[in-house]
Amino acid sequence: MTTAAALSERLLVVDDLGAGYGGMPALRNVSLEVRRAEIVALVGSNGAGKTTLLRALSRVIPCTGAINFNKYDLVPMAPDEVFGTGLVQVPEGRQLFDRMTVEDNLLMGAYRRTDQTAIVGDLERMYGLFPRLGERRTQLAGSMSGGEQQMCAMARGLMARPDLLMIDEMSLGLAPVVVEQLMDVLQAIRGEGVTVLLVEQDVHLALSAADRGYVMDTGSIVRSGSAKDLIDDPAVREAYLGLA
Ligand code: ATP
Repeated sequence: MTTAAALSERLLVVDDLGAGYGGMPALRNVSLEVRRAEIVALVGSNGAGKTTLLRALSRVIPCTGAINFNKYDLVPMAPDEVFGTGLVQVPEGRQLFDRMTVEDNLLMGAYRRTDQTAIVGDLERMYGLFPRLGERRTQLAGSMSGGEQQMCAMARGLMARPDLLMIDEMSLGLAPVVVEQLMDVLQAIRGEGVTVLLVEQDVHLALSAADRGYVMDTGSIVRSGSAKDLIDDPAVREAYLGLA
């Protein structure tokens, strides 16, 4: 497949998605798509509904509308089945197994796989992508710094060999130098064919790394387009980038 054909292949198609909590709507009429080998940014302020959208896609909360991923209809699926289709979420706050080692956390990401030799190979690949994890492979995950824990959460997600990795608030609370390393990893894994949905309150950071973006506000998509066009959009600049 040529790069142009691969880029145009729609991996995730979300149509008219709605969700809420106890009858209170938190998502309304959300439609978006992610093409294979793209990095797509989903940005918006605190409380805009980004995490709720990821929860709906992972089928952790009920929703209305349509979600097609990798030719699967996700709406009737349970979260574990969704994971099996190749859609994997790296949750906000990492949610590592704190009392397990780094390596055991990574192996948890591969729990559905049976290809033992390839799993061992992927562990080494993760230690290549994240050398700090290699140095700390026998350390308890809960004893590491925030940046190292984020690396561990991302590597755990990658151990599932996802087609789409959805990363919720990757940069939150991390030092700029660490965020830069994580951004380099995103570009590297995209080069290996992994598609990324990057969910961020840091609008500038996410749009700087992405090909395309969607802006959410109070549960709806209010802007979409190429990342460059969004960065240049006066309304986005004023509302989210603090620029006139
Ligand atoms: P953040 O970056 O702070 O996570 P967000 O854009 O991801 O923000 P959501 O967490 O999806 O936003 O929240 C969207 C709305 O749904 C908010 O009004 C929030 O208060 C509400 N909400 C989120 N989780 C729950 C919940 N478990 N129960 C009730 N309301 C919730």
